[in-house]
Amino acid sequence: MIHELSRRELFSRCLQSVKRTVEAAKPNPRSIPRVAIIQGRYCLAYRNLPCSVCRERCPEAEAIVIERGIPRVNADACTGCTVCRDVCPAPQNAVLLLARRTITIEGGKNEKPSQTRPSVPRNAFPA
Ligand code: SF4
Ligand code: SF4
Repeated sequence: MIHELSRRELFSRCLQSVKRTVEAAKPNPRSIPRVAIIQGRYCLAYRNLPCSVCRERCPEAEAIVIERGIPRVNADACTGCTVCRDVCPAPQNAVLLLARRTITIEGGKNEKPSQTRPSVPRNAFPA
């Protein structure tokens, strides 16, 4: 026996199908490549306070280097794992995780992931 759908049921099913499709198409935030940057205005080391916790806990050997007491992220080595952000003891967390953006270069080809650069906010570093 064939069950005929009412207009309301048909519309409801179509709507559910569209919702499922839209949800499936959403990017998973965890899969977006990210890179850390250190905001100097919040970082303790920029205020001459001894801190290098981010460097000590970073699992990538060359992702954070300390130069004259100041931490600097090497974007090519950073995997965006968020460890440095999680351990930063500054009152206002000094580490930002930004989505990498791919730069289109001549010929229309995209750079390799290792060559991507973070989008750095204007006020990320002290004047
Ligand atoms: S852990 Fe935070 S406060 Fe300490 S050096 Fe790194 S970014 Fe600066
Ligand atoms: S996000 Fe991970 S790999 Fe990148 S600097 Fe922070 S701790 Fe190191």
